Amino acid sequence: MKISFPHMGYSYIAFKWLVENMGHECIVPPEPSGHTLDLGVRYSPEFACIPFKILMGTYLEVADMGAEVILTSGGMGPCRAGYYWVMHQYLLDGLNKDIKVVAFEPPLCDLRDFWKKLRKIRVTGGLSVKEFIQVLKITWEKIKAIDDVELLSHEIRPYEVKRGDTTRTTWKALDMLDAANTLGEIEEARREGLKILENIPRDPTRNPLKIGIIGEIYVVLEPAANHYIQIMLGEMGVQTDRSIYLSSYTRNNTIKNLEGDIFDVAKPYLNEAPIGGHGVNSIGETILYARHGFDGVVQLAPFACIPEIVAKSILPSISRDLGIPVLTLFIDEQTGKAGVQTRLEAFVDLLERRRETKHKQKMERLVI
Ligand code: SF4
Repeated sequence: MKISFPHMGYSYIAFKWLVENMGHECIVPPEPSGHTLDLGVRYSPEFACIPFKILMGTYLEVADMGAEVILTSGGMGPCRAGYYWVMHQYLLDGLNKDIKVVAFEPPLCDLRDFWKKLRKIRVTGGLSVKEFIQVLKITWEKIKAIDDVELLSHEIRPYEVKRGDTTRTTWKALDMLDAANTLGEIEEARREGLKILENIPRDPTRNPLKIGIIGEIYVVLEPAANHYIQIMLGEMGVQTDRSIYLSSYTRNNTIKNLEGDIFDVAKPYLNEAPIGGHGVNSIGETILYARHGFDGVVQLAPFACIPEIVAKSILPSISRDLGIPVLTLFIDEQTGKAGVQTRLEAFVDLLERRRETKHKQKMERLVI
């Protein structure tokens, strides 16, 4: 089978390996571009949110590249993400594209359905259960290693002496991970990748601001959808921490795993059942970023995304109570890189002045 999937950051490296090692041909989805968005906007309902439109464009691109199957995720809770794949399939059928969208619902929703779909892909690829488990294990290690490299790159970028060094080195490290095929090779590539990042010439005298990035999963994870916001901020000399990584749930160094269940953290401000998407997470994570001394938070919200709109309406209270400025960037097909950059520069300026004022007040108190 010729299989493809949505493009989400650098995860395509691991998913390409997964598909190829399950005995299928992988149609690697291209990074979302202006063309992808144009296609998506042309064939999606106008009211659909931006992740839907970008995915629609991607699916049309991979269909033209020969993909027969698209593997994607479903969703549960009060958010239209759960209907994405049904709508995509409907629209692709209407355009006479011979391609099938297979959605994996969260295993806890319907374990049988999850295994049934996985089994079909395994069997058509000709893999035994044992081989399949090994392939899954290696894929997971790749995902974790990719996240490790990316995490470190965002820590290092604000200190780089030569602009662009970190981005170039990150790609080198990712290429090494791309070429790794066994658990041992992945570990070696991971270590080497982290080492070359650590060796980037840095200016340790800088004192970068710290900004947390929160919001809807797709626009947070796909740099092309958020106009490479973390790289942009890093090159402005800001250290960023992203609340979501694909391997977030298993690692203890991302903000959401620092203080237990995010729903408990968010409770004082939103004591409701899940509101869909990452709405509750956005509230809880802002609280955590404030508690952990971050200078500010940037919320990435697809235009008309209900969960993020609910979160946005609550964030001013958190901002006031905990003293953490929050900038919300709504993203749609009209959003341009220059506009995002201007708003970020103004926000960073504000945070810098705020930090200076705080420092001055502290010094004055000490003198008195
Ligand atoms: S979380 Fe927001 S952007 Fe994502 S599918 Fe739901 S409404 Fe759309």
